Amino acid sequence: MATEQVKKIDSKIPEGPVAEKWTNYKAHQRLVNPKNKLKLDVIVVGTGLAGASAAASLGEMGFNVLNFCIQDSPRRAHSIAAQGGINAAKNYQNDGDSVYRLFYDTVKGGDYRAREANVYRLAEVSNNIIDQCVAQGVPFAREYGGMLANRSFGGAQVSRTFYAKGQTGQQLLLGAYSSLSAQVQAGKVKLFTRYEMEDVVIVDGRARGIIAKNLVTGKLERFSANAVVIATGGYGNAYFLSTNAMGCNCTAAVQCYRKGAYMANPSYVQIHPTCIPVHGDKQSKLTLMSESLRNDGRIWVPKKLEDAKKLQEGTLQGWEIPEEDRDYYLERRYPAFGNLVPRDVASRAAKERCDKGFGVNNTGLAVFLDFSESINRLGIDVIMQRYGNLFEMYEEITDVFPGDVANEINGVKYYKPMMIYPAIHYTMGGVWVDYELQTSIPGLFAIGECNFSDHGANRLGASALMQGLADGYFVLPYTIQNYLADQAIWPRISTDLPEFAAAEKAVDDELTRLLNIKGKRSVDSIHKELGHIMWEYVGMGRTAEGLKTGIQKMKELQKEFDTNLFVPGSKEGLNVELDKAIHLRDFFTMGELVAHDALSRNESCGGHFREEYQTEEGEAKRDDKNYFYVGCWEYQGEGKDPELIKEPLEYEAIKVQTRNYKN
Ligand SMILES: Cc1cc2nc3c(=O)[nH]c(=O)nc-3n(C[C@H](O)[C@H](O)[C@H](O)COP(=O)(O)OP(=O)(O)OC[C@H]3O[C@@H](n4cnc5c(N)ncnc54)[C@H](O)[C@@H]3O)c2cc1C
Repeated sequence: MATEQVKKIDSKIPEGPVAEKWTNYKAHQRLVNPKNKLKLDVIVVGTGLAGASAAASLGEMGFNVLNFCIQDSPRRAHSIAAQGGINAAKNYQNDGDSVYRLFYDTVKGGDYRAREANVYRLAEVSNNIIDQCVAQGVPFAREYGGMLANRSFGGAQVSRTFYAKGQTGQQLLLGAYSSLSAQVQAGKVKLFTRYEMEDVVIVDGRARGIIAKNLVTGKLERFSANAVVIATGGYGNAYFLSTNAMGCNCTAAVQCYRKGAYMANPSYVQIHPTCIPVHGDKQSKLTLMSESLRNDGRIWVPKKLEDAKKLQEGTLQGWEIPEEDRDYYLERRYPAFGNLVPRDVASRAAKERCDKGFGVNNTGLAVFLDFSESINRLGIDVIMQRYGNLFEMYEEITDVFPGDVANEINGVKYYKPMMIYPAIHYTMGGVWVDYELQTSIPGLFAIGECNFSDHGANRLGASALMQGLADGYFVLPYTIQNYLADQAIWPRISTDLPEFAAAEKAVDDELTRLLNIKGKRSVDSIHKELGHIMWEYVGMGRTAEGLKTGIQKMKELQKEFDTNLFVPGSKEGLNVELDKAIHLRDFFTMGELVAHDALSRNESCGGHFREEYQTEEGEAKRDDKNYFYVGCWEYQGEGKDPELIKEPLEYEAIKVQTRNYKN
């Protein structure tokens, strides 16, 4: 079983009141002499919103940037999937928003498990992001009068989410990509598409480069730099079925972990309440229906069990159930926030109803998301303007168009509701970073979803894009200079050093090992089984017993992977199965980390729900006395359990209290 050790972690949080920390930091920060910037190389791995914005900014500042991604173009990074929007404290709606309020909502939404200083900085720079993106030409939705429009997302009582229809991520990425392309044109950024980082190279205790696989030729290549930044996204695909893009993986992050970077709070995994329910066992992907739909959609199940039974049998349709027989359970349980409670709360409430037998589809694992009231109030045109592409996406997958009238009861029109159910969506945990976004390996930085920094135990909707772009445009470009300021005196690191040769050989040996297993099972079949274990034992509801069983089952399955895997083809040329095998190897490591962290945290908070620790009303029960810390896990070697190191949390501006979304 995992052990604990006491080790001092310096998170480099500046002195002073929380609202002044970032200003003070910037005032005392060391800048790199412009002449020296020309000598300094920075590797940025990833071209999602975090990576592309960081690479573009560092290039513009004068550093030489080597930017890597798996896809054939940065524009295809997983970030394009983001639908609903991005938060900022602009207060354009004059509804009482402020930097403090965004900060407060984010800390509360994260169930008081985020680092206060980081979140304040995030709220401060949120407004700059909107200005930056508007300047790039991002077509945010506007009001009739020309002002940028806003909508509401969960966990907030103000409207602060900026959006571009249901394609916000795509539009933001196009903006970042245009800045990146300008730097490519200027010769400051060199792009390496269809390259996968397989390892980080450490020389004298510092990150000095990477080993990357050219995914087209299959060749391993060495790259050196003065600093390495990973922006490689989250580990949600460890669960096999998730809303993440199929290519999302945690190989880069896990390799950094194996080389000494701590992995923080891995058990904080977000399960999103509004996804299209699982249809059967042939699926490899789940589809998100954006949280923005909860602005106008109302979530319900029948009040009567007999109605639910008929829905499950297919002898009754949702639109045939009259108003008085519907249970809008979120509005009932959380009157102050209603359908806009945070995701962890909404997901658990859906599970609770379905566990009690009120599920509305043939598997009993679905609830309704209904637009009848808002279409009747606002008209279908307004609703289509807001969510048109999401309605079309839903229709394409389910053959049901949520804007179609289905019934009329007592003069009220009822439209076909969507069916939704919670699914794995986002990972709050990730590589541990200090206030400067530097990992526990000097010279190695982590930004965007792949770090753990700002969301505590639960991320609020529209805050991932905010964090990714804050890290990439406004935080890392400052903080990395503190490190790089010392680097100008170093000669360029040669990739002929023995450390590079050893790292490349280790990767090559590993590829050979996987190809030589020559067993009988495909990568996907084992991955799917891992996903089942994760969902069952490390999913929405966890228990100590279940977690121990889960770890045991993962270990057994990993043996199967090591002895009975079949990877066709060879190391040369394109071999997607081989790449997937590497990813799966690392999902095992990550899966066990999630379970160890969940087992060590004897409390419920945010996305981590231990069934033993809940209130009488079924709400998460935190234990601030014993678990008010960031759980950092240190690698101890293959086959050995990781060790836990604790970074205590310190709050000075916000009073830590029980979350309340009822009043
Ligand atoms: C369906 C969906 C909708 C969402 N909607 C919203 C929303 O409305 N608002 C919001 O705030 N958030 C939303 N999110 C979350 C948000 O999209 C992500 O958290 C965010 O885009 C992550 O950005 P990133 O730059 O950190 O990583 P990613 O976009 O995942 O990019 C990772 C990059 O790293 C590269 N990479 C990965 N591994 C390697 C490797 N080993 N070597 C080389 N390159 C590598 C990839 O090629 C890619 O370029 C949504 C998520 C999903 C799944």
